[in-house]
Amino acid sequence: MFNRRSFNKILSALLVSPLMSCQSNPKDNASHKPLVLSTWNNKEANLIAYQILKENPSSILDAIEKAVNSVESNPLDVSVGYGGSPDSSGNVTLDACIMDHNGNAGSVCFLKDIKNAVSVARKVMENSPHVMLCGQGAKEFALLNGFTVFDLLTPQSKNKFLKWKEKAVFEPEINSERHDTIGLLAINSLSNLSGACSTSGLSYKLPGRVGDSPIIGSGLYVDNEVGASTATGYGELVMQSCSSFLIVELMRSGMTPMIACKEAIKRISLRTDIENKQVGLLALDKLGQVGAFALRRGFNYTVADINGLQTLESEYFL
Ligand code: ASP
Repeated sequence: MFNRRSFNKILSALLVSPLMSCQSNPKDNASHKPLVLSTWNNKEANLIAYQILKENPSSILDAIEKAVNSVESNPLDVSVGYGGSPDSSGNVTLDACIMDHNGNAGSVCFLKDIKNAVSVARKVMENSPHVMLCGQGAKEFALLNGFTVFDLLTPQSKNKFLKWKEKAVFEPEINSERHDTIGLLAINSLSNLSGACSTSGLSYKLPGRVGDSPIIGSGLYVDNEVGASTATGYGELVMQSCSSFLIVELMRSGMTPMIACKEAIKRISLRTDIENKQVGLLALDKLGQVGAFALRRGFNYTVADINGLQTLESEYFL
């Protein structure tokens, strides 16, 4: 049970001295590259990205896009793409973004009836003068770019929604059974970084709600000089703290990816009501070092590198 005393105790343990957090003589872990890091137990996605990067390091955006597509297209994944949970009116609306090592970014939000939102985000980045398209405009742009209309509800997600509607109480699951949003970061053997994020957002959210996942600097941020970061969990908390941008800036000031994620979780916990909410943060730096930290137990993440493919439990605050 959450109480103020235990909160303060944990908070002081989380307080990070800038000196402690600096890396002494960090070494470039070149042998670890390529490396792919994603939220949750997304082994298949990580493997897809890793294999593409092994064969062709410069195809980093293809690697990331194909990996995220595999989750978006899987009807068993209940919080991304096809099969994702609908909003409180029964419509599935998708948020996604992508960012490359040159600082280019593309994003879509409140996108309906299109399966692979991250691919539309990539088209926004590459084929439009804009960074973010929303709702009907995003859908029309997708259709103009060769995407087709697709019913994102599965019989399972529809039945679950109809059951939810009997009580209609908005109560997001803290850690989803299968997994939540996919945020995926990669570094290639040339030490270039890119990332993407894709979600159907919080289950049974209010129609029109957009979360952190398509917001550059909240759900995803990449700075090729420093590192990259992505987020999952209760998007409102991430948006209020611009967590991904913050983590990259903390790494720029010398923190390791791990310490930067921990510090970003600390900031969230200081600013907002975190009761019954989860946030999981990931970071990857230019050296190929990985960091993960969550508000509470239950967040895991997957790494693919020369050592193989592993899903690991994140450290956490509460
Ligand atoms: N961050 C996502 C959102 O708030 C949800 C999630 O990660 O499960 O839309």
